Amino acid sequence: MRTITEPARQVPVVAETEVLVLGGGPAGIAAATAAARSGARTMLLERYGFLGGMGTAAMVTNFCGLHASINGSVQQIVHGVADDILDRLAKLGGLREPHVVTSADGLKTGAQAYDNAAYKVATDDLLVSAGVDVRFHTFAVDAVTDNGHIEAVLIETKSGRAAITADMFIDCSGDADLAAWAGAPFEKGGSDGFMAYPTMMFRIADVDHDVAMGEGAPQLKSLIAEANASGEYTLPRKAGIIRPQTHDSEWRANLTQISRDGAPVDGSDWDDLGYAEIEGRKQAIEYFRFLKDRVPGFADAYMLELAPQIGIRETRRIVGPYQLTGKDVLDCRDFEDSIGCSGWPLETHVLGDVEWKFLAGRGYHQIPFSTTLPTGVDNLLVAGRCASTTQDGQASLRVSGPCFAMGQAAGTAAAMARTAGTAPAELDVAALQRQLAADGAFIGDTGV
Ligand SMILES: Cc1cc2nc3c(=O)[nH]c(=O)nc-3n(C[C@H](O)[C@H](O)[C@H](O)COP(=O)(O)OP(=O)(O)OC[C@H]3O[C@@H](n4cnc5c(N)ncnc54)[C@H](O)[C@@H]3O)c2cc1C
Repeated sequence: MRTITEPARQVPVVAETEVLVLGGGPAGIAAATAAARSGARTMLLERYGFLGGMGTAAMVTNFCGLHASINGSVQQIVHGVADDILDRLAKLGGLREPHVVTSADGLKTGAQAYDNAAYKVATDDLLVSAGVDVRFHTFAVDAVTDNGHIEAVLIETKSGRAAITADMFIDCSGDADLAAWAGAPFEKGGSDGFMAYPTMMFRIADVDHDVAMGEGAPQLKSLIAEANASGEYTLPRKAGIIRPQTHDSEWRANLTQISRDGAPVDGSDWDDLGYAEIEGRKQAIEYFRFLKDRVPGFADAYMLELAPQIGIRETRRIVGPYQLTGKDVLDCRDFEDSIGCSGWPLETHVLGDVEWKFLAGRGYHQIPFSTTLPTGVDNLLVAGRCASTTQDGQASLRVSGPCFAMGQAAGTAAAMARTAGTAPAELDVAALQRQLAADGAFIGDTGV
């Protein structure tokens, strides 16, 4: 490829902070709140003008992984900062009661829908009241590092290029952008290049709730099959999720699946992202036509909103001292360095379908602190969907509940490590666990 030389220039240091969080999705929201509450001067950088990450920008509008089925009883197992978000959403009238999700063989978990607008407002309030310096419209583009130590993050804004220095950094970009710039090892997809397929979400208004609930949603899979067989529709994903939002007449549709000639789209690739937006919107319109024509309850509905961006499930995953595996999840495994719990099934988005493997028995596993520790960078933590997991581990750990749990732990750990003058990896994990428990987090039975 042809290159040109960019002239060297001095970049202004526009801010110096103690903990710098990159990305305002579920992980970043919890990380920044926890770091600030732990007494660290904290700044959060977000490229959009609102928080929520995939939860708002991709219009996920539903919390998975907050609940687990503990010996058959569905209970909330992620607390702490997550509770503060739920409380605010409920006060805004933007939270539905949790619903039970049941597998084909009768195993269960829970999920909870919320309103997109309420989530933005609730998380603004949460971070501002915690004292976080939230910097919207800030695209992080690189890092200045010295021998495995991050000195600064370089940003681009409407006001130009700049640098922000910090003592501790937390990468909650979802794509492990900062970890990659700092030279930390990562994996992207499986050995065959597979990454979970993305989805363009949409929401629908004026749904006849009772009919859609009683007849439409239960028949969705067979109706998709009939529509495809008729030759009148092109619906690449054989099964999907349609569910009501906080208000009965508004539903979300998690139906589309974007591929490039069958291959998954890479959400960390500029060209693939652009392709996926246009293809996603095209597919969403086709699925909506199908819903209106063929699914009971949708005849008089209209398309309320298409997600601002294509929903990306998986890109880079850091390789830390331990990678949480799918087996750990299904075995409900405990870890001595637990910083939270999760009970979401393995949810694998394969070509044309989604494969589910639910947890049995106790119904949740512990999340080790080591999932948040990158290799070779001494002042960085990583939380969220790009944490240290195997690919099948990520198929469970990427959802909002565990991202909140990891984020709270990473934020607390960053503040503690900074105060102690140590690297996060050298932190007294028992002290971190005591602090998390004191702050309302549920980390499982670790004897804290
Ligand atoms: C279509 C779809 C449906 C899903 N359904 C559900 C569901 O029902 N329930 C559920 O709980 N989970 C669901 N998930 C998964 C879940 O939403 C995500 O995995 C979760 O949001 C990950 O959180 P995160 O904080 O790690 O990253 P993200 O949510 O991806 O947030 C990362 C944030 O960082 C910002 N950012 C990234 N790079 C930069 C940069 N260089 N500079 C500045 N800002 C940057 C982004 O704008 C974003 O706000 C779904 C995901 C998709 C795609």
